[in-house]
Amino acid sequence: MDTRVAKKKLGLKDRYAAMTRGLAWETTYQPMDKVFPYDQYEGIRIHDWDRWEDPFRLTMDAYWKYQGEKEKKLYAVIEAFAQNNGQLGVTDARYINALKLFLQGVTPLEYCAHRGFAHVGRQFRGAGARVACQMQSIDELRHYQTETHALSQYNKYFNGMHRANHWYDRVWYLSVPKSFFEDAMSAGPFEFLTAVSFSFEYVLTNLLFVPFMSGAAHNGDMSTVTFGFSAQSDESRHMTLGIECIKFMLEQDPANVPIVQRWIDKWFWRGYRLLTIVAMMQDYMLPKRVMSWKEAWEMYAESNGGALFKDLARYGIREPAGWADACEGKHHISHQAWNAFYNYNVAAPLHTWVPQDSELDWLSEKYPESFDALYRPRLEYFRERQQQGERFYSKTLPMLCNTCQIPMVFTEPGRPDEISYREGRYLGDVYHFCSDHCKGIFEQEPEKYVQSWLPVHQIYQGNCFKPGADPTAEGFDPLAEVLAYYEMGEGTDNLDFEGSQDQKNFAAWRGESTTAKGEAS
Ligand code: FE
Ligand code: ZN
Repeated sequence: MDTRVAKKKLGLKDRYAAMTRGLAWETTYQPMDKVFPYDQYEGIRIHDWDRWEDPFRLTMDAYWKYQGEKEKKLYAVIEAFAQNNGQLGVTDARYINALKLFLQGVTPLEYCAHRGFAHVGRQFRGAGARVACQMQSIDELRHYQTETHALSQYNKYFNGMHRANHWYDRVWYLSVPKSFFEDAMSAGPFEFLTAVSFSFEYVLTNLLFVPFMSGAAHNGDMSTVTFGFSAQSDESRHMTLGIECIKFMLEQDPANVPIVQRWIDKWFWRGYRLLTIVAMMQDYMLPKRVMSWKEAWEMYAESNGGALFKDLARYGIREPAGWADACEGKHHISHQAWNAFYNYNVAAPLHTWVPQDSELDWLSEKYPESFDALYRPRLEYFRERQQQGERFYSKTLPMLCNTCQIPMVFTEPGRPDEISYREGRYLGDVYHFCSDHCKGIFEQEPEKYVQSWLPVHQIYQGNCFKPGADPTAEGFDPLAEVLAYYEMGEGTDNLDFEGSQDQKNFAAWRGESTTAKGEAS
């Protein structure tokens, strides 16, 4: 009979450590610095990579199992949604424009995150950080795919989705998210984690996902809600990575603090500017509102973010430089952005509209300090013009901020009747900015930002026409040529929602009359 040997049971943390620690190695025939050339040039000092706490605590084996199970559930819902013509169950066809914005401007970022994490996951000499980045890289690829699949049903029935990837690389407002991620991906590995994992995923992500996903739930879009749930558990792992990498850098060496602070200042501001489209979506594009941008900002940024920065104060980190201006902006940015989209709707593959009376009243109630005085009269004037058959579309091109790439639509903090405008010089050329913060970001790394691909500049330089277009030909219509280059359906993908194909189709499918919504017939 064998003697029974009592096996010592390891706790979860120890078991995880036993499976994952000590598996990496120091290189011998090449120096480590040559194998990992990128993790030092940013100036971040790491003395002991073993102090890195793995944020995910998942073995690869368990990871695949969890993710596989989530996939199965998600695809069952997506399939049922398609079979039951779920696209007809949404509140009204205006809602689809929030999905267009998501597919055009957010989904491609998932793919960029996939690439970015795959890249930095190769660059850290600490194995814990490498594994965490590898898993997140795979998550992000999955998000890109599941979002695309979940929304593909809508693409069969609505305009504004069929060329989303093509638009991402060309259309004016999509260069805002694109340049955000290209800036992060072309930074060093520690800055990338500060930008994406910390500033975006940890500090700001609730402001992106909660409005879109609860907006979907309120507006009857079960397919997007299910995707949201499926991504949620990944999201919490990503947030953990965000806070872990910040604490790790700050604890390793006090010399890291000013570098990290500079990155937090920069990436908080870039993330905040990027979220302008979410603010607009929340206040204007959801037929059934969840909460206003201002309320979301107060809850997720001012109170949660405020507590976070108090907590980080013990490391010598303070609130991001743009914090106070971002808080002041909560009264304004959604209205200013919608105004820009409404005016430049010829060149935007989604529809805009003037909110209905009940919606204007909701905005008045949610924005007592700004809406009635500044924004409501303008919208009512737009509606008046539209009802007279004179819907206004701007045919000019706006000046863009060289850093965030948003048109000059924002106003001075505390002076909402004055456009905020800054300029700076570098090597004899003049550059324009929307704010002190975007100007400050440029001045830290001018060599980087003079390379910005600014859509308006590119149009003026003649780079946004199809081959064969001849700007010297008689009757050359630059706007029409740019739309051809965008591969945007003129009159189907763009212009006002009133009278659009989307509106008419949806009404016909639901057996409603479009005139019921107040359209003059
Ligand atoms: Fe993601
Ligand atoms: Zn800017």
